[in-house]
Amino acid sequence: MNTKFASYRSPWDSEELESFRASVRRFFETEVVPHAEKWEQQQYVDRSVWKKAGELGMLCVSVPEEDGGHGGSFLHEAVIIEEQVRAGDTSFGVVLANMGVPIFLHAATPEQRRHWIPRLTSGESVFAFALSEPGAGSDAKAIRTTARRDGDDYVLDGSKTFISNGYNGDVVLVAARTSNHEDPSKGISLFIVDTNGLAGYSVGRILKKVGQKGQDTAELFFDNVRVPAANLVGGEEGRGFVQLMNGLRTERVVLGLIGVAAAERAISLTTDHVKARKVFGKTLWDLQNTRFKLAEAQTQTYVARLFIDHCIQLVMEDRLERTHAAMCKWWNTELQNKVIDECLQLHGGYGYMVEYPIARMWTDARIQRIYGGATEIQKEIIARAM
Ligand SMILES: Cc1cc2nc3c(=O)[nH]c(=O)nc-3n(C[C@H](O)[C@H](O)[C@H](O)COP(=O)(O)OP(=O)(O)OC[C@H]3O[C@@H](n4cnc5c(N)ncnc54)[C@H](O)[C@@H]3O)c2cc1C
Repeated sequence: MNTKFASYRSPWDSEELESFRASVRRFFETEVVPHAEKWEQQQYVDRSVWKKAGELGMLCVSVPEEDGGHGGSFLHEAVIIEEQVRAGDTSFGVVLANMGVPIFLHAATPEQRRHWIPRLTSGESVFAFALSEPGAGSDAKAIRTTARRDGDDYVLDGSKTFISNGYNGDVVLVAARTSNHEDPSKGISLFIVDTNGLAGYSVGRILKKVGQKGQDTAELFFDNVRVPAANLVGGEEGRGFVQLMNGLRTERVVLGLIGVAAAERAISLTTDHVKARKVFGKTLWDLQNTRFKLAEAQTQTYVARLFIDHCIQLVMEDRLERTHAAMCKWWNTELQNKVIDECLQLHGGYGYMVEYPIARMWTDARIQRIYGGATEIQKEIIARAM
């Protein structure tokens, strides 16, 4: 299935990436897709898949080798994203981990990088990023989890919710309040926490979601949790909010790319379906409405593809601004939802059956407009710079 428009090839694609793509595709086909149903039922992926992804070099792929990663680039991340979407998988949190690690990477000291990254690269540990709380989602500055200095430790208290990889994750990047600075953003710091056997730490329910059912989104609790002061990321208090904002830029391009790739896949699946499905003695494709709807979706998605490839280029050249990232996130994820909804309509009742991929894509897509900063937040960011 060629999901990109006609013979279009992203300008960033290359021979080297094509061979990486082939091995990533094989990985999803053999190690992920066959387990989809089991993982959806248990609401988390088997831990062994992380090890296998590590062996294949898919984890921390864009982290420099001197920090313990594979020394690839954001283009390798882009390939993994496109292949995961192509495989129809939303359970395995590899992209979530790979896009969260850079937040840590850019903020950490060289010693911290060398200490924490290798185990994430091998898949021995699983990364999670814990910012959101019951009272602080869009308004991230309102977090209430605290980290109090006590001798050589910090003591963490509070709770986090909606944390991706929350059940499997054992290296957790936690945002916590280290002071009541009058500017709330200046009171936030990041901590890197090894949760294995950690006293006072617990994982709550794996949350039941309308989509992305095999992804272990969970609540995390910190009750008098002691972590060494050396785990304060970057070694300086009060820098957490700035560190986060820098990292979230690339995350938004990742979410935008998921959006475009999903729209492309939906169009491809739907074109096949309508050309085969007969109604009133002819195929659905023979109806002008069907062709027009798909032609509109194809055009809009092609425009989005050009835009996302531009954003990827900006990431590569280190020229991506906050507003680019915001536009990329809201536009492409809204488009994803619109296109998939039209595609489901063209599937009729079959589109509402979970054994049809379009049904799953429809439920999986909805959160894209909310997490990583809701559409409205992205528009605020864009407007603020105008
Ligand atoms: C499946 C899933 C995975 C997630 N993974 C993670 C994770 O790994 N780590 C993590 O830290 N968090 C994660 N989140 C949390 C996610 O980032 C938040 O849900 C998101 O930021 C929105 O916050 P909220 O849910 O508290 O909604 P609220 O902040 O209550 O906002 C509700 C709605 O109000 C509107 N709104 C909010 N603010 C404004 C505004 N200023 N102007 C106009 N409208 C506004 C928007 O429409 C928004 O959707 C995840 C969430 C889900 C559901």
